[in-house]
Amino acid sequence: MRHVYSKYHNSFKQKVLVFRVLLFFLHGFAIHREHPFSNHNFVSTTESPHLVPSIMQSTIGILTFDGHLSFENIDHAAKDFGNRYHLMPSAVLYPKSISDISSIIKYIFCMDKSSQLTVAARGRGHSLEGQAQAYGGVVINMESLQMPEISFHIGKCPYVDVSAGQLWISILHASLEKGLAPKSWTDYLHLTVGGTLSNAGISGQAFRHGPQINNVYQLEVVTGRGEVVTCSKNNNTDLFHAVLGGLGQFGIITKARIALEPAPKMVKWIRALYSDFTLFTHDQELLISAEGSFDYIEGFVIINRTGLLNNWRSSFNPKDPVQANQFISDGKILFCLEVAKYFNPDETDHIDKDIDTLLSGLSNIPSTLFLSEVSYVDFLDRVHVSEIKLQEKGLWEIPHPWLNLLIPRSKIHIFAQEVFGNIINDTSNGPVLIYPIDKSRWEKETSLITPEEDVFYLVAFLSSARPSSTGKDGLDHILSQNNKILKFCEKSDLGIKQYLPHYSSQEEWKAHFGIHWEAFFRRKLTYDPLAILAPGQGIFQRVHSFDQQQP
Ligand code: FAD
Repeated sequence: MRHVYSKYHNSFKQKVLVFRVLLFFLHGFAIHREHPFSNHNFVSTTESPHLVPSIMQSTIGILTFDGHLSFENIDHAAKDFGNRYHLMPSAVLYPKSISDISSIIKYIFCMDKSSQLTVAARGRGHSLEGQAQAYGGVVINMESLQMPEISFHIGKCPYVDVSAGQLWISILHASLEKGLAPKSWTDYLHLTVGGTLSNAGISGQAFRHGPQINNVYQLEVVTGRGEVVTCSKNNNTDLFHAVLGGLGQFGIITKARIALEPAPKMVKWIRALYSDFTLFTHDQELLISAEGSFDYIEGFVIINRTGLLNNWRSSFNPKDPVQANQFISDGKILFCLEVAKYFNPDETDHIDKDIDTLLSGLSNIPSTLFLSEVSYVDFLDRVHVSEIKLQEKGLWEIPHPWLNLLIPRSKIHIFAQEVFGNIINDTSNGPVLIYPIDKSRWEKETSLITPEEDVFYLVAFLSSARPSSTGKDGLDHILSQNNKILKFCEKSDLGIKQYLPHYSSQEEWKAHFGIHWEAFFRRKLTYDPLAILAPGQGIFQRVHSFDQQQP
């Protein structure tokens, strides 16, 4: 491992000594906290850390950084997209260099044994349940780390080196100037590289390219000991695999080398409806395994929506307008296949034929085939259009009680029958995505946990809750529906796994990791032995020596 010592290293031991003396006097002020990851609808613990800044300001406050450390105006670091967890940190670091991150972690690692301080990297803060928050700790604002500049390697296997705080949308725009683009995406691009690589980054391209964590050649990571380590498949391999999908537990990703491919200019974007779930899943599975298939394959569920096809008309054209006019969606359970084929303008002739061939093998309701043609950027950045509209209406920053599940293929029919047939009565609170993925070609060594079967479905309940509503669009109702879904999965032993997982106890985490728990624990012991990093995931409690943790 390559240790990079910051320019503050010389004064380091001295500062630790000062801190120990301070702690001796401030012993009674040690942070006592309840485990904040309860099952309450909202978790807000903003009260205690007010004791801490005074300690912090005289300890880490005296460190110097290329960027800066702030103890004020830090409320934003206690918020996220989920808008239910509000865990107040004591300070926010705005790093301008990698050594800023290394220094603060090293400092905290060497602090007095009674220190409870933790560190959370915050990407875009689009987590759902406080995963990027650190109660009483230090939040590192990764977006301010803009080092190095985005730099391209153009050759047989092109790639781009980026700071982990970069947004995917910025990488897309920069890559397109070179005629290139990353291969695997999320549905929404205003997320950071470090944030999605800590989970997986799954979207409609994953059936072909794997998730984003399978499309990274190299990472630079600051471990929970403050060491800066470069890792890849051939170099510090264990750390590389640990960090990918590692929920921020093993290190803070500071740089990533992302695989690129030639970028298309245009996209044919297609939607088709099914009322028969068996036909729908049959076609989805057929398409993810077909040669020369679409470039993007997803789908969603529609329950009891009125005037659905009319809503689509602003952006999609019906293949058969007369028949489409006669189709009524009200009161039905429908399944929408959503696919896309990339192309360049000089391929228009054969792309239409290729698409017709692919569509001719499908069993959708014929009158419900809808087509659209958009630029590649507009296709990839499609969710941002909705974001802008929702922001204008004040409906973006409301609670998002999302539930993301990975369901084994063999159990998807049992799941659909109960969940879409009985538990969910309509899909008016937000989209419900459903699409299959085949992981047989995925990297197996990462920290991402998936069901045992190679083919599984991602089912995402992307609900928004109206603030203060006590009705069907209120938080209580949606959370109770989510709980019913989870209970049903458990009772029926479906072998599901949560994606963007969230649990209240370590027992549940152990069950989530199953046979992989010991490896996960061993990696934690190796790379973040005091459990300083990503406390908001609620997997490990901060300790003073790791033998306090039980595997
Ligand atoms: P944050 O919320 O800031 O952080 C997430 C976790 O990663 C935290 O634990 C944090 O401490 C840790 N972390 C952040 N940066 C780093 C780093 N540099 N090094 C180590 N750890 C770090 N996901 C998909 O897979 N597919 C989708 O299609 C998809 N669509 C989405 C659409 C929307 C509108 C939203 C809000 C989310 C979506 N997500 C999707 C989920 C998203 O990928 C995760 O929530 C992701 O973590 C968000 O990135 P972020 O930069 O906001 O991370």
